[in-house]
Amino acid sequence: MTGNPLDDARSQLREAIDLLGLDEGMYELLAAPRREITVSIPLRRDDGSVEVITGHRVQHNYSRGPGKGGLRYAPDVNLDEVRALAMWMTWKCALLDVPYGGAKGGVAIDPRHYSVAELERVTRRYTSEIAPLIGPAHDIPAPDVGTDEQTMAWMMDTYSVNFGHTVLGVVTGKPISLGGSLGRASATSRGVVIVALQALAHVGLDPRAATAAVQGFGKVGRGAARFLADAGVTVRAVSDQYGGVQHADGLDVAALEAHVDATGSVVGFAGAEPIENPDLLELDVDLLVPAAVEGVINGSNAERVRARLVVEGANGPTTAEADAVLAERGVVVVPDILANAGGVIVSYFEWVQANQAYWWTEDEVEGRLADRMTAAWQHVLAHSRSLDLTLRAAATSLAVKRVADAHLQRGLYP
Ligand code: NAD
Repeated sequence: MTGNPLDDARSQLREAIDLLGLDEGMYELLAAPRREITVSIPLRRDDGSVEVITGHRVQHNYSRGPGKGGLRYAPDVNLDEVRALAMWMTWKCALLDVPYGGAKGGVAIDPRHYSVAELERVTRRYTSEIAPLIGPAHDIPAPDVGTDEQTMAWMMDTYSVNFGHTVLGVVTGKPISLGGSLGRASATSRGVVIVALQALAHVGLDPRAATAAVQGFGKVGRGAARFLADAGVTVRAVSDQYGGVQHADGLDVAALEAHVDATGSVVGFAGAEPIENPDLLELDVDLLVPAAVEGVINGSNAERVRARLVVEGANGPTTAEADAVLAERGVVVVPDILANAGGVIVSYFEWVQANQAYWWTEDEVEGRLADRMTAAWQHVLAHSRSLDLTLRAAATSLAVKRVADAHLQRGLYP
């Protein structure tokens, strides 16, 4: 990661505020989180020693509904990163018109270096520490980098035990057996590909003649690679934090998934050549899907990105500096708050289902997801055309307007 993602998030907000003609007071209201908490998590390690780990939960905005956002486990998690991610969640929820504000959580831990039992203790203690601030009507966490449905099951259980009854709606991204939604696990990737296919058509490319590279092979990147291949796109390269693999004629994504299940990484996949992460970003492909971490497309490499289209599976993969370079060079960037919104859409569906204790079929979930993603793409594209804006400026200003309207209509208390 390069730079501070909060600077990028604030510069996007500044541009939207200026476009909308809103005043400095509104900028300041939206540039800072409404509420944030930092907690110390004492962990008893398996060997009996005690280690203290830092965790955060930031609620950027809740003027349109409860906070909503993922929980990240990564060694370099810091408060500014969590603040930026929380702000992007506010815009994403507003843009997709799901009735939430934005929030995010982070725990500064590398989950690969801890046992499952240790991760369970960290998760339960973190949940207890932030419990006064979360809940189905307050703030609803979900999985993000380094966390998964098991993490959400522990959070739901810890919260429920503390409150004396089962509260399914406190987190989303839960296992199906515990009130999770069909279609949630693949929702972000599906949404990325729904929008990527729309964007390919927008720039006049047939998916069956198009090539792609995907950075990150986790919950988002892996499904994105699979669904792109299913749509006929030639996936030339993928990577994870250990390295990448490429094949000029396209990777066999199903075989690659089997390799990852067996080894834990894309590295060493037979029948493919190795490629380093920085080179993957500069590969000669039509479509680049960064689906790992923030800031990977930045001032140092934006000039060399050869893709015609960048569809942001990750949150904040393109810095503000790189955004300007890509716009200048005519590279179309489909912004994170649109491209990866499939996850929060189906999280919303999961919360609705959990609160009503009534579950939908997978077809219902996926049909409604596709409808919302397609409508949002069309809305953002039309707005960008009518005002001659980049897709990011169009998406952010549409979202900021909805949040600013909510503030203005609610009024300031007291
Ligand atoms: P994950 O932990 O499941 O996977 C992350 C992947 O990125 C892994 O393959 C990891 O090896 C790789 N990676 C990590 N650091 C890297 C680096 N420096 N270079 C290259 N690869 C690296 O996480 P995820 O849930 O897939 O999230 C990925 C991104 O998508 C994040 O920005 C997250 O905020 C965003 N996102 C996730 C969801 C969701 O539903 N999970 C929804 C919206 C956005």
